[in-house]
Amino acid sequence: MSSLVGTDLVRLTAAETARVIADGEVSAVEVTRAHLDRIGAVDDRVHAFLHVDEEGALAAALAVDERRAAGETLGPLAGVPLAMKDVVTTKGVPTTAGSRLLEGWVPPYDATVTRLVREAGIVILGKTNMDEFAMGSSTEHSAYGPTHNPWDLSRIPGGSGGGSAAAVASFEAPLAIGTDTGGSIRQPAAVTGTVGVKPTYGGVSRFGLIALASSLDQAGPCARTVLDAALLHAAIAGHDPLDSTSIDAPVPDVVAAARSQDVRGMRVGVVKQFSGEGYQPGVEQRFRESVELLEELGASIVEIDAPHFAYALPAYYLILPSEASSNLARFDGMRYGLRVGDDGTASAEQVMAITRDAGFGAEAKRRIMIGTYALSSGYYDAYYGQAQKVRTLVVRDFERAFEQVDVLVSPTTPTTAFPIGERIDDPMSMYLADLCTIPSNLAGNASMSIPAGLSPDDGLPVGLQFIAPPLADDRLYRVGGAVEAALADRWGHLLIDQAPEL
Ligand code: GLN
Repeated sequence: MSSLVGTDLVRLTAAETARVIADGEVSAVEVTRAHLDRIGAVDDRVHAFLHVDEEGALAAALAVDERRAAGETLGPLAGVPLAMKDVVTTKGVPTTAGSRLLEGWVPPYDATVTRLVREAGIVILGKTNMDEFAMGSSTEHSAYGPTHNPWDLSRIPGGSGGGSAAAVASFEAPLAIGTDTGGSIRQPAAVTGTVGVKPTYGGVSRFGLIALASSLDQAGPCARTVLDAALLHAAIAGHDPLDSTSIDAPVPDVVAAARSQDVRGMRVGVVKQFSGEGYQPGVEQRFRESVELLEELGASIVEIDAPHFAYALPAYYLILPSEASSNLARFDGMRYGLRVGDDGTASAEQVMAITRDAGFGAEAKRRIMIGTYALSSGYYDAYYGQAQKVRTLVVRDFERAFEQVDVLVSPTTPTTAFPIGERIDDPMSMYLADLCTIPSNLAGNASMSIPAGLSPDDGLPVGLQFIAPPLADDRLYRVGGAVEAALADRWGHLLIDQAPEL
């Protein structure tokens, strides 16, 4: 244990943590304890967690220590703690999706992602805060109060997975799981100086995720380094017969790609449409510098025209509410979670109405109403059908782009983290936070955000997004790993090591 004396265990990467556990320098229980202590010390201010499962975490860690003592070879993330977004079902552990409607619900089963995480020996510390049913870009739509950005506690940590990103950025966990329907892994990663990946649609099972929009939802890794994200990606990806949209194809070797750090000869496309009005000057500056860096590293830069990306956001805000209104119909007060108004005289329909009125927050209600309207007969073709046509045009823009380049690069978000309260009453400005992330969800592409530095105008993290064609997730890790390493060389450390102590 000598080499680790004085080492702050919570500051190790996931890869380093697994190694010191496998080498017997420290036990998995000690690592878990250190993270639980960190949560105890800072989470009253950050509020990344909705539920901490101390007992479950220590038991999982102990099981890893026992397997090691018995001489078993441990997996590459065994004993590493993880924070799980509360939209992912966890057997025996409360799962609320950030909603009052599911307050107190304890799932009787594990999502496939949860099962794979457990089988990898990863220790689940607890469940993270999120916008209700993953609708939002700031975590302010959680029924349980907002999460705070560790870089500036008065600002939002992004959303909907702000809890997962904040847990990783505040060293409460080296890894987290998020879900990304329109940007909810990448946008929080961008504004918290962390790494977040939306795998190819169908690359990670959706079984056991509480559905928002089934044709868009995808779970993926949150971490502080590209390699850590790759290790978690490899642990959770793969075909699942329980999810009919799961892809039955080999998972690309994302770990080898993350380690390769070589972009020589890679063709990188800069999308014309991802700049200009609405983009913060400091974000654009860091983006331009990143493109220059890619060129220095040996990539060739090509300008790409994607004319239909301008319509991606409006199309998404018809498709998403439509699918969400249908998925959220199951929360009727009859089967699980909250039930209000059941006084013995009210009809089932009345109880459903009272329960849904009491249980859903404003944003969920807004989207249920838009979606129900867009799907109603007479309007279906005008709205939902039209939006699906636009979706096809966006897909074609990507197809044409990927005939010319291997990956696309853009800012992840038009601005850095905005102040808590600034956009909560202005849904349109909230939706604009996902301007650059939404096209990839519409097309099912793989996409990643890594830190590009701090914005010179406000000192807050800027995210750099890479987009690869479906099933080419490895390209993200190759280019992301190379840029991360080059920036760390330049700065002498990772961006996250500059985050305030809290
Ligand atoms: N912010 C987007 C929305 O509100 C994305 C949500 C998500 O990816 N879950 O719909």
